[in-house]
Amino acid sequence: MIAAYLAEPGKIEFREVPVAEPAKGEVVVKIKAALTCGTDLKAFQRGHPMIPMPGRFGHEFSGIIAKTGKGIKKFKEGDEVMGVHSAPCLHCPYCLRKFYNLCENIMSTKVLGSYAEYLVIPEHIARQNFFKKPSRLTFQEAAFLEPLACVVHGMAGLKIKKEDTVLIIGTGPIGLLHLLMAKSKGARVMVSGRSRPRLDFALGLGADSAVEANGLDSAVKEFTKGLGMDYVFECTGQLSVWESSLNFSRRGGTVVLFGGVKGGTSASFDTHRLHYDEMTVKGVFHFSPSDVKEAFSILCAGLPVKRLISGSYALRELPVALHRLGEGDGLKFIIEPENAI
Ligand SMILES: [Zn+2]
Ligand SMILES: [Zn+2]
Repeated sequence: MIAAYLAEPGKIEFREVPVAEPAKGEVVVKIKAALTCGTDLKAFQRGHPMIPMPGRFGHEFSGIIAKTGKGIKKFKEGDEVMGVHSAPCLHCPYCLRKFYNLCENIMSTKVLGSYAEYLVIPEHIARQNFFKKPSRLTFQEAAFLEPLACVVHGMAGLKIKKEDTVLIIGTGPIGLLHLLMAKSKGARVMVSGRSRPRLDFALGLGADSAVEANGLDSAVKEFTKGLGMDYVFECTGQLSVWESSLNFSRRGGTVVLFGGVKGGTSASFDTHRLHYDEMTVKGVFHFSPSDVKEAFSILCAGLPVKRLISGSYALRELPVALHRLGEGDGLKFIIEPENAI
């Protein structure tokens, strides 16, 4: 089979490799749809600490069970499936206290490599975070399970409800998934970003308001009658946005910092705002199996994620898709290994 290897930043090689036999509890998935992701783009452009090079990459996918290892009862050959690329170990100190997303082994035991014809799913993932795909979901929609699980995790426990005000800063796929989720809860949502076409796209997806970053202060005041937002989601991963995001929250509001900033970076906040305005500022990371289950139900209920797909490519066209993303052209591309160039 053919698999894409990230050899070094900017260089993808397509190698002919054998399809591995599944060990006990493992399944081999024939990839039908793999989604591009901002993390993959980062890795392609400048390397990524969580994506070793040279190595296979791609982690958002759906497909068909091609082979099952011993002991697999949940799936059989030919089943259409969807899943994520990680699962907790269930025995580390964090797992024992049910902080599954913080599992000490979740990153070292993840599986990468959905930009390929086949991918072997490790036992702990097949057992905990893999599902049969309902026929009403396309493979393309089903591939959204992983990014949606991340967004669901970031919103878990927040109790966003009808008429709550929500500000989403950032108009990338993650910002727009936050938008779809917040609208599905009935919130009034403002989206902010730098690109007017992208903001107009957000309006088309249901945003109640979409404003350019430089007009955000006054727009938030007007939108909330001077109060500030109930919830602010930072979805850019830029330090200046992390720091300014607190300004848009009301007293007692919640700010979720979703976008990752480079390790070793320090951010500063007005301590008076945090203290006297009783703000909640939350970092969020990855997801737990409960978030994956919830994301699965949300996809099955029809969240219109397919509107975030900007096009599809054959496997060997992956570099084209990543270059387009790098130029800000497109949100998410579908890589379909079965398609010929
Ligand atoms: Zn991703
Ligand atoms: Zn663990």
